[in-house]
Amino acid sequence: MKIGFIGLGNMGAPMAVNLANAGHEVTGFDLTAPCPDGVTKASDAASTAQNADAVITMLPNGDILRAVADQIIPVMQQGAVLLDCSTVDVESARAVAAQAEAAGLLAADAPVSGGVGGAQAGTLTFMAGGSEAAFEKVAPLFDVMGQKAVHCGPSGNGQAAKICNNMILGVTMIATCEAFALADKLGLDRQKMFDVVSTSSGYSWTMNAYCPAPDVGPQSPADNDYQPGFAAELMLKDLRLSQQAAKAVDADTPMGQSATDLYQSFVEQEGGKGKDFSAMLPRFVSRERG
Ligand code: NAD
Repeated sequence: MKIGFIGLGNMGAPMAVNLANAGHEVTGFDLTAPCPDGVTKASDAASTAQNADAVITMLPNGDILRAVADQIIPVMQQGAVLLDCSTVDVESARAVAAQAEAAGLLAADAPVSGGVGGAQAGTLTFMAGGSEAAFEKVAPLFDVMGQKAVHCGPSGNGQAAKICNNMILGVTMIATCEAFALADKLGLDRQKMFDVVSTSSGYSWTMNAYCPAPDVGPQSPADNDYQPGFAAELMLKDLRLSQQAAKAVDADTPMGQSATDLYQSFVEQEGGKGKDFSAMLPRFVSRERG
């Protein structure tokens, strides 16, 4: 396929490289990031999109996605597919898809989980929204860039799945960290806490696979001085998107709101920026009951 790739940052660059290595003809554009080897550099977004069978965007947020979509949709060829893999608000995802479809294009939103490591290794998970035809057209690209793609329904449903998943993740990480901090104060050894909880009804991915306590459980960012991993500010971004969506559809998400508030304080006032999202554990340990 001829692929245009817009947004060659931490995630986009390795995804574009994997597509090029798989034999696709990839042209790329980024405002600031360099064009990686194997990808042909374009001078702007429109020329990246012009002759492409598929245009993939991997951008910071919904406003930027909408601005880029305005530039590329008018020049894309009929029947081509616009595949947005960024994490953006559901409303922007649906608006861009509607704009693309009105112009005779196919559209899919497919945010990812798996982080930079997954992007490099080609093992991302894609959560896709859009028509069956759009999903079928980009499925071979998902196979190159990832290990799993779930078609979650119409446009925007990929973003919906991503923010619901990450709201669970943020809330669960906080619950796991505050329980460890409580255990410390009760004199319960962290390893014993792990041994019990990881095999009891409190088990979770954050406890069992990504334990926030150093030297306990499998290797995780906690064992590397909380270097990310998944940075706290990215968790905050996704939690904010979950609350934006919850407000838009009048959904009651008190735990999601609390997690958003806690990550906001952590990132903006408590030095959490640049640390893994599991660094909530030392944050709880260092605090008194408020
Ligand atoms: P990044 O900031 O490294 O990359 C974004 C790139 O977009 C930058 O290089 C920037 O220059 C470029 N850009 C911005 N505006 C542009 C424009 N108008 N035209 C062309 N390029 C433009 O971010 P990232 O970590 O690669 O994340 C990209 C997306 O993936 C985000 O939506 C993020 O939430 C999501 N995501 C990131 C991770 C992760 O671990 N980094 C994991 C899952 C999802």
